[in-house]
Amino acid sequence: MTSRILVLPGDGIGPEIVREAVKVLEVLQSTHGLDIQLEFGLVGGAAFEAKGQPLPAETMHQARAADAILLGAVGGPQWEALPIQLRPEQGLLGLRSGLELFANLRPARLFPQLVAASTLKPEVVSGLDLMLVRELTGGIYFGQPRGVRTLESGEREGINTLVYRESEVERICRVAFDIARLRQRRVCSVDKANVLECTEMWRQVAIKIGKEYPDVALSHMYVDNAAMQLVRAPRQFDVLVTTNMFGDILSDCAAMLTGSIGMLPSASLDAEGKGMYEPIHGSAPDIAGKNIANPLATILSVSMMLRYTLKRAELATILDNAVQRVLDKGKRTADIQSPGCLIVSTEAMGDAVVAELK
Ligand code: NAD
Repeated sequence: MTSRILVLPGDGIGPEIVREAVKVLEVLQSTHGLDIQLEFGLVGGAAFEAKGQPLPAETMHQARAADAILLGAVGGPQWEALPIQLRPEQGLLGLRSGLELFANLRPARLFPQLVAASTLKPEVVSGLDLMLVRELTGGIYFGQPRGVRTLESGEREGINTLVYRESEVERICRVAFDIARLRQRRVCSVDKANVLECTEMWRQVAIKIGKEYPDVALSHMYVDNAAMQLVRAPRQFDVLVTTNMFGDILSDCAAMLTGSIGMLPSASLDAEGKGMYEPIHGSAPDIAGKNIANPLATILSVSMMLRYTLKRAELATILDNAVQRVLDKGKRTADIQSPGCLIVSTEAMGDAVVAELK
């Protein structure tokens, strides 16, 4: 069956990097039998300029009808003074919540060719390949009550609430276990069960769901230790699963282990495996329009789309290998340059991946 893919380039470098990822999708379509139909839409500042809204109803309609969404990035200084509901970021948040994309997948993988880009020693990070699964639509970022109130004494008090329903924990754990089955079959659930009752329950639910997956090894770690282990010995991890806030913090830490923001893709999935795929970086206004941005994070987001929504894991591997071969040949965009390598443009990098796929 033909899969419908909505392409939302967004702002800044978004259109440049997405153009290269679309080339990759088109070559997989013409030479590898990928059955897809591409559609384009507006989000973020681009949508605000054209329609007065960062997430026009038409885009939401397109997104609901699509099987997968490929997004570039949103935002830019020209929209920072807008009222919060009109800012580009609202487009992104609206898509995530409107489509109930509760599972955020953030792989941190170090390409052997880019070991020098990490701030950690090569012997600590080489071979790094982990997947962080973050709960995205619940927890302390959404819990009620929240806000700041003034006490009778005149002192202010800030409140946020960490709350998870058992069903929310069950579904994110299942995502993690399912992914582990595609990898090394190890899940580490990260909590603060020694202090927070909510995450004590999280741990109990993880154990319960783990029994449905006897072929996957489950371990547990307190979040403070997990942060330490990520920089001490990150290769011990296969899949990590954790709450919204812990995942927010740990995923940035894990991302930086690889040292190159232009290389990291992400996916946000709903219960049926529909997903939004995007690079983890922003719209990089400082380099927009210069044809120098690294398109590989977006191209690798296509690889995640192939694996998790389109269920074409073999094509994902073919694409990953194509990216590896381009790096092996010494081609680098400016952000990942190293001595002796050839610096290429955004477009040339996309063309190089396409050439490998052909
Ligand atoms: P950023 O990720 O856009 O840029 C940080 C630095 O990394 C910049 O120096 C940039 O040039 C560089 N960089 C980022 N992507 C690159 C790539 N593909 N190739 C080469 N270099 C790259 O973060 P920022 O500067 O903090 O934010 C800029 C705008 O992006 C803001 O408006 C912010 O709100 C928005 N933003 C959007 C998203 C998103 O759409 N998911 C995420 C983060 C930030």
